[in-house]
Amino acid sequence: MDDTTVYRTTAWSAGPGCHGGCGQKLHVKNGKLVRIEGDENHPWNQGRSCPRVLAMTQYMYHPDRITRPLKRVGARGEGKFEPISWDEAYDTCEKRLNEIKRKYGAESAIFVQGTGRDIGGPITMLAYSYGSPNWVQLGLSGHSCYTPRLGAMKTVMGDFAVADCSQYLERRYEDPQWKVPEIIITWGQNSTMGCPDGFFGSWVVDCMKLGTRIIAVEPRNTWLSSRALHHLQLRPGTDGALALAMINVIIGEGLYDKEFVAKWVQGFDALRERAAQYPLDEVAKITEIPAQEIAAAARAFARAKQAAVQWGVPVDMCPDGTAVAHAITCLSVITGNIDKPGGQVIARPSHGVTSYPFSTEELVKLYGADLIARLNEKRIGADVYPMVKNFRGWAQPDMVIDQVESGVPYPVKAAWIQTANVVGGQSARAKFHLEALKKLEFIAVVDLFHNPTTMALADIILPAATFPEKDSIRSWWAPLISIKKRVQVGECKSDWEINFELAKRFNPEGMKRWKTLEDMFNERLAPSKMTVADLQQQGGFKMPEDGPFKPYFRHERGLLRPDGKPGFNTKSGKIEVYCDTFEGWGMDPLPFYTEPPQSERSTPELFKKYPLVMITGARSQLFFHAEHRQIPWLREKLPDPTVEIHPETAKKYAIYDGEWVYLENDMGRVKRKAKFSLQVKRHHVHTMHGWWMPEMEGKAPSLYGVGDFQINNIIPGPQCAKSGFGGGQYKTTLCTLAKISA
Ligand code: SF4
Repeated sequence: MDDTTVYRTTAWSAGPGCHGGCGQKLHVKNGKLVRIEGDENHPWNQGRSCPRVLAMTQYMYHPDRITRPLKRVGARGEGKFEPISWDEAYDTCEKRLNEIKRKYGAESAIFVQGTGRDIGGPITMLAYSYGSPNWVQLGLSGHSCYTPRLGAMKTVMGDFAVADCSQYLERRYEDPQWKVPEIIITWGQNSTMGCPDGFFGSWVVDCMKLGTRIIAVEPRNTWLSSRALHHLQLRPGTDGALALAMINVIIGEGLYDKEFVAKWVQGFDALRERAAQYPLDEVAKITEIPAQEIAAAARAFARAKQAAVQWGVPVDMCPDGTAVAHAITCLSVITGNIDKPGGQVIARPSHGVTSYPFSTEELVKLYGADLIARLNEKRIGADVYPMVKNFRGWAQPDMVIDQVESGVPYPVKAAWIQTANVVGGQSARAKFHLEALKKLEFIAVVDLFHNPTTMALADIILPAATFPEKDSIRSWWAPLISIKKRVQVGECKSDWEINFELAKRFNPEGMKRWKTLEDMFNERLAPSKMTVADLQQQGGFKMPEDGPFKPYFRHERGLLRPDGKPGFNTKSGKIEVYCDTFEGWGMDPLPFYTEPPQSERSTPELFKKYPLVMITGARSQLFFHAEHRQIPWLREKLPDPTVEIHPETAKKYAIYDGEWVYLENDMGRVKRKAKFSLQVKRHHVHTMHGWWMPEMEGKAPSLYGVGDFQINNIIPGPQCAKSGFGGGQYKTTLCTLAKISA
């Protein structure tokens, strides 16, 4: 008899690593996960899975996985660690962090998270219980992922919005309320290559099968661009100019939605004047896209009965990511595509529950206005950048690392690093990060495997759990979800469990109202009028019900504003394309374009020396950022870090296909294997980030080869204009190619 039990749960955490939140079926035998498959009942992924989640058994039971708490017993970088008990690990973290607080102040400890998944909930609880305002996604230069666009949308229209592929409706494509988008602009996103930010690339393909036409804004040739109605093959970093030129065409030719604009838009005439400063001919030169292509795409988008935009991180990485996101938001606004079936659907945390507090508004809801205001007094970057201060609780990452180095205006002495491979992952100026962090007096790392960061920096390592090993909740857009622990691996604990225990030690008074984690989850679930047990009983998820959290046309029905009146959740009740709030913060109230800090136009001398534009940071189905390089099923599909080079460019540099080469600039050089590709333009090269080699020597100075393979070693710091968001030069750094043998 087969004694395997199948449990349904949701993937959101280490393992796949992504932001998606798909339904999965866990096949568990004798307390061990033996197989995993997509849950066909789950409306978001409908049985589909990525390779990473299918490789979960290899990930969870990998021989290199850290399964007990460790303490460092040699010098940093020597690779000498000894297992310790959880009690000793907690005691050490408590003692060392309290010493730092007594000596330098709580702000001297930084609380560092990696990208997305479910860290935002537990890490804020811990940082604020300890008393530090410095919660930060360290290394993500300019907060250049998702935050600029969230900040722009929230400020301009009072809410976030995403492309509507029927994801808020339980019956999905069959629901009669939904309409197929006639056009989806995939703007700087190869959506099929992952599950970006609560959005599944497979939805775009589903829509295409139902008739959607694609406009691909993308410097490379991709699967999507090859099937697109228009492929706008722009010069990296020029997205803002393109969006403004499209707005100019739409307004100039009278193709905007006059009724929607008259009723719901503030500042339209000012936007018209601003867009007129971006004539087609000039923007064609800036973007390298023929003028008639820009115009044709703008017309197609505006003439569609309903049209959506699904955008990616290149938007956020533009010199002022907020301004570019503002411009792209205006495209949807002036064409009346807001909260309309098949348009841009307003996305709120499911049932009003906050699990990962994205905005200051949500932080205030969880922790109170007083605490959040107090934290702003010492939060790094809050006094310099208005969006950092007003939109999101994170400290400004580029300023944090500079302050670690300089100690001004106050010293940074400790770091709590939670599933973030700062040295091998997202950090621009990665070597600078490594050297600066070495100065800290105490570093605790929560992670699942050794990596360059644990090896170089950790004093204590706490072993984290994957999603089949943990209890959690998730309310990122929809549905509302409970994640249920089904197996145990070694002594690993969930991020929530780890932080809950330590938060109680730092703030016993504030934490005493919750005896268990489940008590706390239930309190957070209160707006939904459900408990974890209720959610479990319903199969682990609940789709939104009619009201503020379910589309459509909520602005007309008085469902968006706290006062219950029709309109958007802004001061004026209208979408403020001329944004008084930005103006009040000393920012430009209208969208604008800034040339990338390195380019043929902005740095012609540098361009002569380094004539190739390097594009990095693209997502992969195999690896999530710096993770998964040790998982055999995944690594065998892509064993080496490659650089895509146009064959004619390769010829110029006398490089042959498959040869190891250097990518180099004034910051240094990094090894890559040449891959001839017609996907890239002649003056671009494209390479993946996040590479280090788990099979190489872990001890310093090798640190798993991170010095040779980490592309972010040659990515400079940001130019994030006034907002503090954007400017990570992950798509626009200039470089050249060199033969290793030369
Ligand atoms: S990438 Fe998509 S399919 Fe894979 S685990 Fe994440 S949500 Fe699920």
